Amino acid sequence: MCYLRKAIYEDDCVIATETELVDLVIEDGVFTKIEPAITDEHDHVFDAQGQLLLPAFRDMHIHLDKTYFGDKWQAPIRPKDGIRSRIAQEQQLLPAQLPVMKERAIYVIKHLIANGHTHIRTHCNVDQSIGTQHVEMLMDVLQSFAPHITYELVAFPQHGLMRDDVYPLMNKALQLGATHVGGVDPATIDPNLYASLEQTVQLAVTAQKGIDLHLHDNGSLGLYELHVLCDLLEKYQFAHDVTISHAFALATASAAELAKLLPRLQKHNITIATTVPFHATNNTIPIPKLKEAGISVVVGHDSLMDHWSPFGSGNTLQKLQQLAQCFGCNDEQSIGQVLRYATGNITPLNEQGVRVWPAVGQPATAVLVDAVSSAHAIARICPITTVFNNGHRIFSQNIELQGAYRH
Ligand SMILES: [Zn+2]
Repeated sequence: MCYLRKAIYEDDCVIATETELVDLVIEDGVFTKIEPAITDEHDHVFDAQGQLLLPAFRDMHIHLDKTYFGDKWQAPIRPKDGIRSRIAQEQQLLPAQLPVMKERAIYVIKHLIANGHTHIRTHCNVDQSIGTQHVEMLMDVLQSFAPHITYELVAFPQHGLMRDDVYPLMNKALQLGATHVGGVDPATIDPNLYASLEQTVQLAVTAQKGIDLHLHDNGSLGLYELHVLCDLLEKYQFAHDVTISHAFALATASAAELAKLLPRLQKHNITIATTVPFHATNNTIPIPKLKEAGISVVVGHDSLMDHWSPFGSGNTLQKLQQLAQCFGCNDEQSIGQVLRYATGNITPLNEQGVRVWPAVGQPATAVLVDAVSSAHAIARICPITTVFNNGHRIFSQNIELQGAYRH
């Protein structure tokens, strides 16, 4: 197979990426040898036919427990009262979907694996209409995929933590194995923004788990909620990971507002998860500015097809292409570097154009793509043919390989 060897510069600009054809030995889930031609005998030999090896993807925000995917086409209905209409709809829909919940979750997971994902962070409803049933069922499903994928499961009080009185159910979900405490728009859904956020942090402190909060609230309200969360993380000296999903308020924040907020997000090691939305209402968050400020940004699909949105593809190369286009990345180096947002910050070449992945000792968690560089794979959304997780081949398909001529 090929890996990226180095960037080729002309003046100060990367004009191409050099690749090298190598053999790789994988033992106990890690790369143990990377050389041009390995002649040792091995039990299983896989011919990658010169395809490009890239690090595998992580979907860091999806809802496996409520989807239409795997069933017939269905577009969402128009909500008369925004998120409140959706919540009212869910109170009927989720109990009705219980008999098919597991099979649809499996369908989504298989689709994500075929698109190069080996790690999934799923949000999972905890509400009065289904209690903790989704958590129990989804844990079963996810565990049945081990060791093919790794996962995190966020207990998600979609109908409000206080409004739906789910604090005891959230505790139960965490005891059942949920890895994170979720939440949603504490100022919009719950009757008391401070109490809601404080209860969220308290749940996580008690369970010693991380937090992943949906924050759609725009403008100064959303920014204020982020400051209140930072205050609480300080108050509780919170030591676990924190993610804010969507964080639309960052999209319209002024330079002065960002200057106040970003250092606080960075100080608390807060990650921002985004679907890279590009609505006309301008909720594309300033990803390059966040990266510059030392804030980790990750991507997720959120939904493939459900009662909220029908547009998810599950194709992370397509999402990265969208990201590159949103921020004017159109040269070999800047397109290639956006890969980091989908791989847990791994890129084959560092920002100086020197190879840092794959290396001996690193986990063999990777995809084979019919492409000649990260930039090519992203810009042309090249097909993924094979997926490995810790050395296990978990997906493969035969296609006609076209290499650099893949359009
Ligand atoms: Zn979500």
